[in-house]
Amino acid sequence: MWGIIATWTMAKDGAEEGKKILENKGEAGEAIEKAIKSVEDFPYYKSVGYGGLPNEEMEVELDAAYMDGTTLDFGAVCAIKDFANPISVAKKLSKLNENSVLVGAGAEAYAHKEGFERKNMLTDRAKIHYKNRKKDIINLELKPYSGHDTVGMVCLDSFGNVVSGTSTSGLFMKKKGRVGDSPIIGSGLYADSDIGGASATGLGEDIMKGIISYEIVKLMETGLSPQKACEEAVSNFEKKMIKRRGKLGDISVIAMNNKGEWGVATNIDNFSFVVANENSDICIYRAKRKGRETIYEPATKEWVDNYVEERMKPLEEK
Ligand code: ASP
Repeated sequence: MWGIIATWTMAKDGAEEGKKILENKGEAGEAIEKAIKSVEDFPYYKSVGYGGLPNEEMEVELDAAYMDGTTLDFGAVCAIKDFANPISVAKKLSKLNENSVLVGAGAEAYAHKEGFERKNMLTDRAKIHYKNRKKDIINLELKPYSGHDTVGMVCLDSFGNVVSGTSTSGLFMKKKGRVGDSPIIGSGLYADSDIGGASATGLGEDIMKGIISYEIVKLMETGLSPQKACEEAVSNFEKKMIKRRGKLGDISVIAMNNKGEWGVATNIDNFSFVVANENSDICIYRAKRKGRETIYEPATKEWVDNYVEERMKPLEEK
């Protein structure tokens, strides 16, 4: 059995590429890198890679991580600037025994020495988003941080390897140097080929408090289905956060076990995800919370067309 699951509709084309590798008996590591690179390269997704929204100082700082659930190799880059594919740098770093998580200038120096493609990741479109948001923050009293969406994926290959990966520009208007959950092992992602893998998206500062991806994998280890494990992890965490802090930011999670079964959970009303395995073709689903549970249904063609149109429509400065 092989399978792939990914956060958000934007992962569809990438997941399709990953799927092709997996169905041709390719390896999960290769599939996930290809899939995430495709999302990073697409200029109209404003929360990942090229075209990702900048920080407060109008610089695009990117976070990415890669975990191999068979060897437990883990690599990550945090707040890296001017490199086209942070996921590939994270994957390469994961093979190292030491220095496998690098930040800022150190990550850039490593990527440069290893010959990774340099690219100015700040697009004209992202600059317009930035300028418009600055005006909205003042005029409409908008929260600076609303607007994010990490691509997180879990892949299972026909040899039983589970890998997870993430890539993001993090919270829009974040402080320079801010790092969220996405490159943090156990929080943004986790993988163990004896069990399965998980990944999260949402408010990183809160997700890290629950080490939610590790929690989901551990719950699957107790025998819970990926769906139950995701729901249990999110609802238990929500209960704790409400009790201790009175609130919990947005949080949405995906998981796949080593049999290719999958699950999701969310505390919002508009989480979308993409999934395929040996038994079912690629499909975009829309999910929302229902009490302690999460319900989902396939997205209609009309909804997907609207989504793409909305992302790609011309943008003007306000
Ligand atoms: N979790 C990411 C972060 O906090 C953002 C997101 O998933 O939308 O950086």
